[in-house]
Amino acid sequence: MRIILLGPPGAGKGTQAARIVERYGIPQLSTGDMLRAAVAAETPIGRRAKAVMEAGGLVSDDIVIGIVAERIEAPDAQKGFILDGFPRTVAQAEALDRMLADKGLKLDAVLAFVVDQDALLGRIANRAAEAKARGEPVRKDDDPEVFKTRLAAYNRDTAVVAPYYKARGQLIEIDGMRPIDEVTRAIFEVLEGRRGRG
Ligand code: AMP
Repeated sequence: MRIILLGPPGAGKGTQAARIVERYGIPQLSTGDMLRAAVAAETPIGRRAKAVMEAGGLVSDDIVIGIVAERIEAPDAQKGFILDGFPRTVAQAEALDRMLADKGLKLDAVLAFVVDQDALLGRIANRAAEAKARGEPVRKDDDPEVFKTRLAAYNRDTAVVAPYYKARGQLIEIDGMRPIDEVTRAIFEVLEGRRGRG
């Protein structure tokens, strides 16, 4: 099963992706995680991405498309994957369509989390406070000011991705403001309906 999760930062994509991983045994491919790993390992890509990530901007399409193209070739991605945080631009969506078409594959579901952005600001402040309380480092980009920049980047660049899939009849909207377990239930219902289709 090949799934895309769309939605603004803080919408719960990561939380729900973990549950889909557990249920369907397919890997979560988070470009944010991959980029953070590259930054931590100080690879050439990490060095190019670090400053723009810390400022809450978008890493260039060529870098991100390159890492996804490589990652979906890995053995564990052959029976499917969940893309979390990708595509974030129409250029990335088009590149993904080409990559899949070249392999004779298609997407099973594009799930868009619909959320109230004002509520997201509160949610992200909680995420930062909870990490702090656990004695864990707070992600630099979860700082409320940087988060606002990430939300602005989403509204400027990424909000166009959902309409891209909607125009192709592939978009399924999920109410992301409901309690976590209810969102999971709604997602599983959609995925069960899709399993084995086509
Ligand atoms: P995330 O964990 O998905 O919120 O991603 C963290 C940061 O990584 C983003 O704010 C961007 O700077 C960068 N990033 C992750 N995925 C992408 C992408 N598909 N395109 C461009 N930048 C990305």
